[in-house]
Amino acid sequence: MIRFVDEDDDRYMPKMANICDFCLKSGILCSKCQTKLKSGKVTDVDLKVGRLLLSLENKYPTLQDMRFHKAIEANDILAVIVGRGDVARLLSYGGKIVREMGEKIGKTIHVLEHGVDNRKFLEDLFAPLNIVTINTIWIPDGTTETRVILKKRRRKLTLIKMEALKEIAKKVRGITIRVEFAR
Ligand SMILES: [Zn+2]
Repeated sequence: MIRFVDEDDDRYMPKMANICDFCLKSGILCSKCQTKLKSGKVTDVDLKVGRLLLSLENKYPTLQDMRFHKAIEANDILAVIVGRGDVARLLSYGGKIVREMGEKIGKTIHVLEHGVDNRKFLEDLFAPLNIVTINTIWIPDGTTETRVILKKRRRKLTLIKMEALKEIAKKVRGITIRVEFAR
């Protein structure tokens, strides 16, 4: 594909869902973006990840088409939520981008897609582990839990990591998950 890109044309750069291009580039927030930061719609972690993506765009040009929604931290894991089709972009270059991001941030990166259903969300969250079944458990108090049954334990999933993944599911989707392993 041929693109006609003007040097001053900012259309091709990683975009943040809730921060304008100018603020992402300049690092100084306009009043609109500042309000979003104050209200918690955008967090410092979001800005940190947005700027990191921007700093990597020359090295990995595929990032210039990317839309970044949100980043959620839980323990050693950083979940990065990106737009439709952007998961493949972020995982391209043989995983070099996420490795470099992980090194810079000091956490393991899990890439998740915005606007997907719970099943896809959980599959991405637990990758590379395979999910056998997902079902809903009704708790006597009227709430529900989502039971995720993973394929027999082959790769190690530490308790700490499992708790971090549960926390991310709660923060991102508002779901309480319970993890079990198939026998
Ligand atoms: Zn702004």
